[in-house]
Amino acid sequence: TEAHISAVEASKPLNAYIESTSEIARTQAKSADAQIKAGNQKGMTGIPVGIKDLFATKGVHTQACSKILDGFKPEYESTVTQNLWDDGAVMLGKLNMDEFAMGSSNETSFYGNVLNPWRLKTAAGEKDTVPGGSSGGSVSAVAGFAAMGATASDTGGSIRQPAAFTGTFGIKPTYGRCSRFGMVAFASSLDQAGVITRDVRDGAIMLESISGFDPKDSTSAKLDVPNFEAALTGDIKGLKVGIPAEYRLEGTPQEILDIWDKGIQWMKEAGAEIVEISLPHTKYALPTYYIVAPAEASSNLARYDGVRYGLRETVDGDGLIPMYEETRAAGFGEEVQRRIMIGTYVLSAGYYDAYYLKAQRVRQLISRDFKEAFEKCDVILTPTAPSAAFEFGAKSDDPLAMYLNDVFTVPASLAGIPGSSVPAGLDKDGLPLGLQILGKAWDEETVLKVSHVLE
Ligand code: GLN
Repeated sequence: TEAHISAVEASKPLNAYIESTSEIARTQAKSADAQIKAGNQKGMTGIPVGIKDLFATKGVHTQACSKILDGFKPEYESTVTQNLWDDGAVMLGKLNMDEFAMGSSNETSFYGNVLNPWRLKTAAGEKDTVPGGSSGGSVSAVAGFAAMGATASDTGGSIRQPAAFTGTFGIKPTYGRCSRFGMVAFASSLDQAGVITRDVRDGAIMLESISGFDPKDSTSAKLDVPNFEAALTGDIKGLKVGIPAEYRLEGTPQEILDIWDKGIQWMKEAGAEIVEISLPHTKYALPTYYIVAPAEASSNLARYDGVRYGLRETVDGDGLIPMYEETRAAGFGEEVQRRIMIGTYVLSAGYYDAYYLKAQRVRQLISRDFKEAFEKCDVILTPTAPSAAFEFGAKSDDPLAMYLNDVFTVPASLAGIPGSSVPAGLDKDGLPLGLQILGKAWDEETVLKVSHVLE
């Protein structure tokens, strides 16, 4: 714990942590010690982890890296983090992220950019790269050896894409596997907690700790949590790995296609059977996601009114409505305001049927595609993202270019199925690339088993 507290301090240039909780860490480490001495050691006992800023931590700032939650300290603990503390884990601090988890590069945080420890090597020297998003702080801390693991959340790819950008392992379990209680809501039908670790075994142990039914979240599933570590048998002989034709998108850089081909080769060498599959509605996933997610966000974010949480902008003598307006204008960043406007638009009378309802129908078709595909295979292998980490500012002025980075991750989010990103090698500039493994609902075990063989 002491070594990690120093590592958190030393990681300041990365801006991965927005708050360090070293005193809490020391207290927890002492009880972890006692746990070990009493012979009660659990999977996470004494393991120092970082917590993404959207998990409510009792008495510790929780702001989803938004100005609007300035100063907010919850009176309660999220179930995911409580599960970790119950298993003996140690909290190092709160981790930077895109504001309300909206973004793919961690450039929308009120607390500033997070640096990727991996830098771009050019003839003119090294350049900073984004860590991916929205869990930029989580991956940067883990890749930068300033945490053994980190909690993260994935609404459309925020665990898998940043994991790919930083050479870390990330897994988003099935929707409902972990409780959303105490997680700042972005898009409730998509939000799912998960973990970032340096390898698959750590990921399996930490995922098991945060999973499980919670009566405080009506969408959490009443299912037993398997022993995820036991799934890492190293044996995938005869397992069927699906390769979806529709993910071979025009314009995908050759090096991404190459790493995908290598992944296919590695699977074959490990004794898996490669099966060509089709997910015909893939091309509609991105537009569908960027209707459903903002719609739910606009509704969830209505609660930040200057009365109940954090920031309040006062306007002399003008009353309630101007106070709402001033607070929301000052408290939400540009990307969040854009999502609220899109979301409000697609939900408004007259447009609801044309956009939101239609998007919900397409979402069903995307789910059905996966169900049919999984009749022919056990897992699906694809690239995690259409590029490696990019430079700051490369896409931040062009929301569409930024949204395109989620093209391979959003379909699984819409279908609610589990997915991981596994480090698969480096590109020509020396930056990490990831491969994505998608599994059947509730079959995280096979996703982990295959990830373990691939890593
Ligand atoms: N990049 C996607 C978005 O901006 C996904 C974010 C996430 O998964 N939280 O919505």
